Amino acid sequence: MTPEQSPEQSAAGARAQRLSDRRSLGRAMVLMGAVMILEIAGALASNSLALLSDAGHMFTDGLALGLAMFALTMACRPASPRVTYGYYRFEILAALGNGVLLGLIAIFLFYGAWIRFLDPPEVAGGIVMGVASAGLAANLVGLYILKGASRHGLNVRGAALHVLSDTLSSFAVVVGGGVIAATGWTKIDSILSAGIGLVIVIGAVRLLRESVDVLLETAPAGISLAMVRDEIQSIHGVQEVHDLHIWSITSGMTALSGHVVLQATTLAHSDRILNTIKERLKERYAIGHTTIQIESEFYREIGEVHESVH
Ligand SMILES: [Zn+2]
Repeated sequence: MTPEQSPEQSAAGARAQRLSDRRSLGRAMVLMGAVMILEIAGALASNSLALLSDAGHMFTDGLALGLAMFALTMACRPASPRVTYGYYRFEILAALGNGVLLGLIAIFLFYGAWIRFLDPPEVAGGIVMGVASAGLAANLVGLYILKGASRHGLNVRGAALHVLSDTLSSFAVVVGGGVIAATGWTKIDSILSAGIGLVIVIGAVRLLRESVDVLLETAPAGISLAMVRDEIQSIHGVQEVHDLHIWSITSGMTALSGHVVLQATTLAHSDRILNTIKERLKERYAIGHTTIQIESEFYREIGEVHESVH
């Protein structure tokens, strides 16, 4: 282990990053909460479902931000003898719960939009336009706050995506309010609500798919098991690789385990070969957690060996 890659150092860096992400999320959450209350009041005053949809969307933003903050707090907790990987997967569980909730909110919006499309009520377009403009401005500020943080975990990125889609929906509601004020065509209010519902569904499906992938321990997107196996087998002295597994502990944290058979003549250099394997995995695939079992060609396996990758 070289000094510049010491796990203590990288863990401290990751921790500082999480604390900074958490502050950004907190600021954005307060902002979304304030605007959501404003939008609910505006929706009641103007009788606009589109505005209420936007408030619902803001609520999910606030929730996503809160869940992301909670997950980051849990990820800062150290591992224990029982919870050996630490609490990183709270992030994934939070993303999963968030996806389910988004789906439910979308169903509510579709239902409301359909009822109101059939029998469009009066809507005060001017109020809708004014309140949605405030929402739009708040979303833009929220996006700016999350800009630095959003590149990291699935949950922070999910929260930033929420805010982005809400920026678009707030803009649509501003336009819708303008159309109602100018022409009195109130059906646009229902149409916009359904549109916002659709945007929420798309976000929900993506979050669910990504979090379920992590929970099913599928190989992370962008890493091919066959390529990694070929890579290891191409290293001088390696005869064969089997029982290879690649999975995510949480988003952006990849783990690998596998058996590596060395040629009898190179067994004496097993440490050097093992280091070469680990360096390649780290450099080319950003796989930091590895457990590699070195075997000679005469080793007779005891216990379960995964057959699919032999
Ligand atoms: Zn083996």
